[in-house]
Amino acid sequence: MASIEETRERYEQGEGGYFRPSIKREIDAHDAYQDIINGDRQARKLVYIGSNCRHVLAEVFPLDEGILIHQPIYKVAKARNFDESTAEGRKNNTVNGNNIWQRQIWFIGSGHANLNCAHIPDYRISPAQILHDLNSGKAQIKI
Ligand SMILES: [Zn+2]
Repeated sequence: MASIEETRERYEQGEGGYFRPSIKREIDAHDAYQDIINGDRQARKLVYIGSNCRHVLAEVFPLDEGILIHQPIYKVAKARNFDESTAEGRKNNTVNGNNIWQRQIWFIGSGHANLNCAHIPDYRISPAQILHDLNSGKAQIKI
């Protein structure tokens, strides 16, 4: 997977063709997240957390332009990782070519999010459930 910097550079050079709108959306998501982290932008935050391990599985920010989700980098035990992923997936989506998976920052569309940590594999959550959780007013949901 290309880094966001590489993605941004290609976008600014006019590449992407048919996929330019979704590439722009990905860049916008990263920019919005960075603005929040830097304190340049205020946002409510809902955190999904492992009930036993306390790992942060996802942070969700309801913004005017969409529901932003940040899934932090996570590590999977090597044996399980090998069983549950493909060589191509490991090559494209890990930081070490093996079992440390890249963070993801994106605006939720119609697709489910798959939340993961070293202890919780692929907890699928629908956009409707995330919206429901946001509307509950809670700041934290344990999984
Ligand atoms: Zn965990």
